[in-house]
Amino acid sequence: MEIYNHPTFAMACQQFDTVADLLEIPASDRDRLKFPKRSFTVAVPVRRDDGSITVFPGYRVQHHLSLGPTKGGMRFHPDVTLGEVAALAMWMSWKCALTGLPYGGAKGGVAVDPRLLSPGELERLTRRFTQELIPFIGPQVDIPAPDVGTNEQVMAWMVDTYSAHAGHHVPAVVTGKPVVLGGSLGRREATGRGVAYLVGRAMDTLSMDASKCTAVVQGFGNVGSVAAHSLQKQGVRVVGVSDVGGGLHNPAGIDLVALERHLATHRTLIGFPGAEPVTNAELLELPCDVLVPAALERQITAENAGRLRCRILAEGANGPTTPDADEILTRRGDVFVIPDILCNSGGVVVSYFEWVQDLQSFFWSESEIVDRLHRILEGAFVQTLGLSRRQGIPMRLAAMSLGVKRVWDARRLRGIFP
Ligand code: GLU
Repeated sequence: MEIYNHPTFAMACQQFDTVADLLEIPASDRDRLKFPKRSFTVAVPVRRDDGSITVFPGYRVQHHLSLGPTKGGMRFHPDVTLGEVAALAMWMSWKCALTGLPYGGAKGGVAVDPRLLSPGELERLTRRFTQELIPFIGPQVDIPAPDVGTNEQVMAWMVDTYSAHAGHHVPAVVTGKPVVLGGSLGRREATGRGVAYLVGRAMDTLSMDASKCTAVVQGFGNVGSVAAHSLQKQGVRVVGVSDVGGGLHNPAGIDLVALERHLATHRTLIGFPGAEPVTNAELLELPCDVLVPAALERQITAENAGRLRCRILAEGANGPTTPDADEILTRRGDVFVIPDILCNSGGVVVSYFEWVQDLQSFFWSESEIVDRLHRILEGAFVQTLGLSRRQGIPMRLAAMSLGVKRVWDARRLRGIFP
């Protein structure tokens, strides 16, 4: 299916093929598991503040429908393409299956740089994009959520647009909403918290003492910033951070509260006085115990994988490590990888809690949410580590094979219609 041609989709397919070989999935079942069930491309016209109109391309890919509605984020980023979104949807499928959620994977987005839009333009873009997708989303069909470049406010506009069409409030159509509109306590923090919890479990496994460890975090959005704060709370010293503009390094530790203050006034990490500037490429190669890529795909490649100086690679982003880099890391054997579909799954797990709460109109306390989140992450971590050790396979292969196997089982049991 050439419409998905994109390096990130090729990467997701390569990972899938490796898992399919391990699970001995027959050739006749492979394409059915790999290619998205449905994908939509929409034109999103937006009236600009100066009166002109710009049409942005928007996408939504629903990877499989065998376990329930589809689930996954909406990304606003200039590089969004159908192929990228298809890869991200495929990863959502394995992620939801690994953590036992009753969902297929989805992902969507608009090829736009949201930082170049005024608040009014961003709202009009979001509402029109949602409007175009109304026939294809819904609480029992497909449930969007935040991703790169989108946030609670964007989700609020999506709920409002969908609800205006339905004629009543439909909170369960998206997750990651503001709490007052039926969002869940702890959703905003969920992905970063999950990353930190799993880093803690990896440290136990490797007998590392958090209070003697350092971390470097690439990306200071919702995932990276919460992961950095949570790791610091666990006693880890955060020595490097970055955003799109570049990175910061301070071996003595970065004052994250002062950094947040700087970010609030300057809207960039650059120029923060409490650390030395480094490039994003240099940041990934800084000496540290824990490296958390929490930005975009394909950051750790064959080019830099040999030079990483971390003990734990905790993938907060989706797809940050290419298969070539994976091979190098496996050969090196000194980097413990917490693969993306496990490491960042806290977000969609609490999205699932949010959806359940919305459907029941019965809301839980934050401590219940954090407790249940930890229980699910613990189960997925123990299963993945167990399989990796029993079969002598890398953590990514173990996590993916658990996820793919569940989807494959469901599909086999359901059979082919008609
Ligand atoms: N965008 C997030 C992810 O990639 C969250 C998806 C969701 O909560 O549905 O996992």
